[in-house]
Formats: sequence, C-alpha cells, structure tokens
Amino acid sequence: MTETTTPQEQAFIPPAKPLIGDEEREAVDRVLRSGMLAQGPEVKAFEQEFAEHFGLGRACVAVNSGTSGLHLGLLAAGVGPGDEVIVPSFTFAATCNSVALTGATPVFADIDPESFCLDPAAVERVVTERTVGIMPVHLYGHPADMPGLQAVADKHGLKVFEDAAQAHGASLGGTPVGAFGQFAMFSLYPTKNMTSGEGGMVSAADGETERLLRLYRNQGMEQQYHNEVVGLNNRMTDIHAAIGRVQLTKVDGWTKQRQDNAAYLSANLEGVTAPPVADGAVHVYHQYTVRVPEDRDGLAKALKEEYAVGSGMFYPVPNHQLKPFAGNTSDADLPETMRAAAECLSLPVHPSLSQGDLERIVNAVNALAKAGA
Ligand SMILES: *Cc1c(COP(=O)(O)O)cnc(C)c1O
Repeated sequence: MTETTTPQEQAFIPPAKPLIGDEEREAVDRVLRSGMLAQGPEVKAFEQEFAEHFGLGRACVAVNSGTSGLHLGLLAAGVGPGDEVIVPSFTFAATCNSVALTGATPVFADIDPESFCLDPAAVERVVTERTVGIMPVHLYGHPADMPGLQAVADKHGLKVFEDAAQAHGASLGGTPVGAFGQFAMFSLYPTKNMTSGEGGMVSAADGETERLLRLYRNQGMEQQYHNEVVGLNNRMTDIHAAIGRVQLTKVDGWTKQRQDNAAYLSANLEGVTAPPVADGAVHVYHQYTVRVPEDRDGLAKALKEEYAVGSGMFYPVPNHQLKPFAGNTSDADLPETMRAAAECLSLPVHPSLSQGDLERIVNAVNALAKAGA
C-alpha cells in the first residue's frame, strides 16, 4: 500500500476467481474445430483422467452439473418416494434438492462445530425405519468424519453417499474423498476448486452403480432404443470436458496455493476463530471460513466498504428454513447449524491472491476485529 492510496481505493479483492488460460481456450477451439460438440471422446478421456488424478480407484461418470450428479447417484442407488436420506441443513440447497427430486425426503442432522460437516452422533439421533442413506458434504473442502458416519450406517443398514462438490483432492486418513461412498459427486462449477464451465463428476463404488449412472444420464439407454429405465439428458459436452481436462493438470498447484494462503491467514489473523483441521485430514480450502461470534454481517460490510476486501457467507440461511424444506426440522434441533449460519464468514483464499492481497486481508480483519472488541 502506498501512502497516497486509501484501502478502499485499492482494487477489490474478490472472494473467488475462476482461472482460465490459453490452454483452456485452445482446448475448446480444438473441440469446436472437430465439429463433434456433444458427449464424445473428450468426456471419456476426462472421466478416466479425473479418476486417476485423484486416486479414486473407481470409475467416474461425467454429467452436466454437480446437482445432476447427486440426483443421478441417488437414482442409481434406488432412492425414491417414501425413503429418507439424512443430510446437513448447513449446505448449499443442491444437496437437499437432489434428494427431494427423487421423491425421497431430506432429513436434517446437525453438524460438528469444528469441521462444519455432519456429526455422526446427530445423524444417529434422526435415523428412522424409513432412512435409507446418509449424504455428508465435505464442506469448504474439509472431509466429513467418514469412519464415524460409516459406523452409524453399518449399524442401521444404511448407504453412504458423498457430496464432494467443494473437495477435489481432500482426503482423510490417506483415503481421497470420493472413494468412500456408494457414489460421490464433485462439482465443476466456475467457483469450485476446478471447473469445466458447468459440470459434475460422479465416482461409482461398483460396476452396477456406474452402469445405472450412465443409463440415467442418457435417457435410460446404454444401447440406442433399448431404454431400460426412465432417464434424463444430463450429459456433459466435449466442449466442457476439454476445459476440465486442462484444469486437471493445474488443480494440484492451485490446491497447494490455497493451502499456503490458508496457513498464512491462520498464522496472522487475530480476533476471529480460524478453521480447524481434523487429525488425518487434508483440507483443500474451497473456502477459508472463520467464525465471527459478534456482528459477522457488520464485519463483512466493513471489509468491503472500508477495505475493498470481498467475503462470502456460506450459508446464512440453513436449508431447513428454506420454503421447500420448512417444517422438516426445527431450529432447536440444529443448534450448531444455527450458530454456524450466524457466525461463519469466508475470506478470500483462492490461488490468484498475491502476498499483498493476503496482507491486506489480515490487516483489515485484525483492525476491524480489534475495533469491534
Ligand atoms: C456447488 C455445490 C453443489 C452443486 O453443484 P453444481 O455444479 O453447482 O450443480 C452441490 N453441493 C454443494 C455443497 C455445492 O457447493
């Protein structure tokens, strides 16, 4: 910062920034020139490269969005009307929408206050005779407690699915997220850790789940005009896959940068609670989320207006309060969800931050937190 520049005159630091380079542009151009735009060889290669890159040890199926991926995964798992699937309320609405779109009911369980992910003990409290599955979210890029959730699932004969929309490359005890559940979905939306424009990648634990995912993705047919089930058109295009394939070659560097940025923030921020990392967990910092116990909204406003620092709230309105799900659960049953919704603030952590940006974020938060105290 020079002496003549006030903080608010400096360039706004955005809370997220997709990184698209010449390689992505060239890849798209290659597909456009080929004349084959819909699902084809690029999608097939992307599926294989994605599974290999993240060490999933299982097949992947590419779809047109993360939300489609969750929906198809649930259909492939046989989830439907009359069933209940336990999900967090503290997540993006897509998690709950995908359950509801199958005709099943999303049942909300509370989160662990450290990881912001489903708390296995809270999950066990809401199991009923209609429960068929548990769908944790690896929120902000931190893995959910998969061994704890698997133990509850085993005890009650439930399936486990993963919403890994925000967690490309995260792991727990050396196992990558996306290798735990019957299926797992990674989102490729532009603000996620890597993108294909819009898109989703679904990993499948077994051949039958993979086959059903491919059927539901494509009108219910594996072989043309031999439709086996009622399916959708949720295919990914080769244009999108070409972007995703390039991003796959860059994502590890970006993740390292996110982790370095997070380490700097955690070492230097004062007056807010930095995000903890569980034993054995690799956090990929889709978001760097702090708790601001007092006046979170005021801090966010002052960061933007006085310091030109962007931030995000994920999620100020928990899903059980949204109109389609209101009535499923009460606030009193989800105390940690309610507290997180009121306190959480995500600071910029993305790989395009400069050292100067990081210093500005730290100086701004520390000054405001001190002023507020
Ligand atoms: C982004 C996101 C989704 C949905 O992914 P889309 O690709 O946007 O459809 C689902 N769950 C969570 C937790 C997400 O963050």
